[in-house]
Amino acid sequence: MWRALLVFSLAGKAVAVVLWSFSSFHWGAAACFFLPDLPILYQVFVPSSQILCRVFTRFDTPRQEVWLTIDDGPHEEDTPQILELLDRHGARATFFLIGERAERHPGLVSEILRRNHEVGHHTQTHPVASFWCASPSRVGRELDDALRVFERGGASPRWFRAPVGIKSLFLRSALRARGLACVGWSVRSLDTVSRDPDRVASRVMRSVRPGSIVLMHEGRSLDSGVRVKALGRVLDGLAERKMACVVPRPEQLR
Ligand SMILES: [Zn+2]
Repeated sequence: MWRALLVFSLAGKAVAVVLWSFSSFHWGAAACFFLPDLPILYQVFVPSSQILCRVFTRFDTPRQEVWLTIDDGPHEEDTPQILELLDRHGARATFFLIGERAERHPGLVSEILRRNHEVGHHTQTHPVASFWCASPSRVGRELDDALRVFERGGASPRWFRAPVGIKSLFLRSALRARGLACVGWSVRSLDTVSRDPDRVASRVMRSVRPGSIVLMHEGRSLDSGVRVKALGRVLDGLAERKMACVVPRPEQLR
């Protein structure tokens, strides 16, 4: 599909060159040159866009349950505390781990699995600034290097989450070749930009519905006042509403 978007963009540029050469229709030429790039930019940078790569953003369920996903770990201080919190609430979660961090903390990967949670794939190096323009071989390395790390820890991820939800042009085929599917979110906690755990929790609780995929984080990207505490408040809020945290089956995802 990225090829069709590219052809559309190049065709617009060709029309623009013709218009600039043979007419005085300058605004029209500029529009033909730049506007066809907007669909590509939308597909790459909008996390819930679906054409470059199918992204699951919720799951079907008749029950009061949500999918809690925790990105950017493992982290030597946060992950053990989060595991304790989840145990205390009888909650299951998926940890979208970064390969190079998992390599530093292999024991945490096996501990996540031992406590009956799931490991998801969040690239090897979390290349926020460059993933969107990465070549096919670079995308492959980000996936394969992390897969090797996760396999050493006993994990075989089914799900992939792009860094900050930004996709690469070549992501769809790279994921398919490795049996991975892309998961986004329906509720964003914004815990990476907040300093107040109560605000993070109330933002989540305002938006959460049965079948929501809740996005939270661990590690140094969080303010010290928010780390782990925000997740505790969210778990308390979900318990008050009698909502369970589950890991959905693949066929439930939408
Ligand atoms: Zn991330």
